Amino acid sequence: MSFTVAIVGRPNVGKSTFFNRLLEQRKAIVDDVSGVTRDRQYGVADWNGKAFNVIDTGGFVAGSEDVFETEIRKQVQIAIDEADALIFMTDTTSGITELDESMRDLLRRTTKPVLLAVNKVDNGDRLLEATEFYSMGIEHIFFISSMTGSGTGELLDAITDMIDEKASDDTVRENELPKFAIIGQPNVGKSSLLNALIGQERTIVSDIAGTTRDTIHTHYDLFQKEFILIDTAGIRKKNKEKDDLEFYSVIRAIRAMDEADVCMLVLDAEKGITAQDVNIYSLAARKGKGLVVLVNKWDLIQKETNTARDYEKELRSRLAPFNDIPILFISAQEKTRIFKGIEIALEVFENKQRKIPTSQLNEVMLKAIEAYHAPVVRGNSIKIKYVTQLPTHTPSFAFFCNYPDDIKQPYKNYLENQLRTHFNFKGVPVRLFFRKK
Ligand code: GDP
Ligand code: GDP
Repeated sequence: MSFTVAIVGRPNVGKSTFFNRLLEQRKAIVDDVSGVTRDRQYGVADWNGKAFNVIDTGGFVAGSEDVFETEIRKQVQIAIDEADALIFMTDTTSGITELDESMRDLLRRTTKPVLLAVNKVDNGDRLLEATEFYSMGIEHIFFISSMTGSGTGELLDAITDMIDEKASDDTVRENELPKFAIIGQPNVGKSSLLNALIGQERTIVSDIAGTTRDTIHTHYDLFQKEFILIDTAGIRKKNKEKDDLEFYSVIRAIRAMDEADVCMLVLDAEKGITAQDVNIYSLAARKGKGLVVLVNKWDLIQKETNTARDYEKELRSRLAPFNDIPILFISAQEKTRIFKGIEIALEVFENKQRKIPTSQLNEVMLKAIEAYHAPVVRGNSIKIKYVTQLPTHTPSFAFFCNYPDDIKQPYKNYLENQLRTHFNFKGVPVRLFFRKK
């Protein structure tokens, strides 16, 4: 079993500052190149050679100005349910507040280790003030400054002391497993697919709690292939109202999507692709998720020679511009090609991890650029000198050139097509950046 630490505390005490500091290296890479600040609430930390999951529960509290008792209870409950240890963060500059006290009362009910972190202790004077927090009556107390980093080492030492080698290894391994989400409209056959998959072999290894209580991560070991399926069972129970069904199916899809590496979009062959499906699909592509489309209930379709080919063609045109994805015709009911769906999703996951050596990339792409130059803009002839893949989670490429702003969409499409022709990025959105040399 992996080891998970949750950070709780009222708004503005410095939870995300601490969280970001802890996950600094990984985050910096992702954000720097894509220019997207991701509001991550979950990550893997590494300290003293031990790995553990960190959840910043603060992100789950709606409206950070007025935090109501119920929201606080919810946050603490998530933390208690999902974590192996809790960091309870407070702020020395505001002293002990009523909210701090009510959180402490809630935390008293758990037998899991609670570490009180008194934050914003930036200097010696603050340390004197901070001693009032001893009155909270929590045994493990740490005076830290998330801003300067002082004291955070002791806190992390205390955490890593609780983690054995096995838990650390499991944490790393679980985080490296491919995560798939099965998404789609109500009644397309998602649960049938899941049940058909599980029926094939005794598969479930364990249920791992997700980053919110609304998603469940199930660890599968199907025919020697390990992966995690993300399910959103929690929401399903809460919302039985028929009117809300479609709305919640969208919310559910987005939640599952955020946590997944590859999304398996299930369609009903008879109904075809809906506008809602296209929206979900584009959103997944924008988020850089791998994609596979499964056309389910294929058993209900009257088939002639070219039925599948024509169906696929029509579907690809609806999914354009990004349609270099696997499309599979399946039947969950008759268990046709369902495991193929998993194999394909694993391939897409591999494609998403693909790193092209710079020399190979330049050899291929500079040739393609030579064969077809970017059009001259305002008398400027555009020269692309060098291409490199960026160290991001979603395959991203930086093209270094003299006039980056003058490269227009059609030429970008040409370059992307060339990349896709020479390297296998099937099912994976790729990003192209143009930078001044
Ligand atoms: P959260 O709402 O608990 O996640 O709090 P944030 O991490 O967003 O921090 C709230 C504010 O406190 C921000 O303006 C931070 O810059 C500031 N802050 C966080 N940690 C420290 C610290 O150690 N010292 C000082 N002086 N300010 C801090
Ligand atoms: P979900 O809402 O997406 O989870 O859909 P369900 O799995 O509950 O399936 C909705 C309905 O479609 C049920 O009546 C299933 O029996 C039916 N169904 C699911 N897969 C297939 C299939 O491959 N072929 C046929 N003919 N029916 C299916």
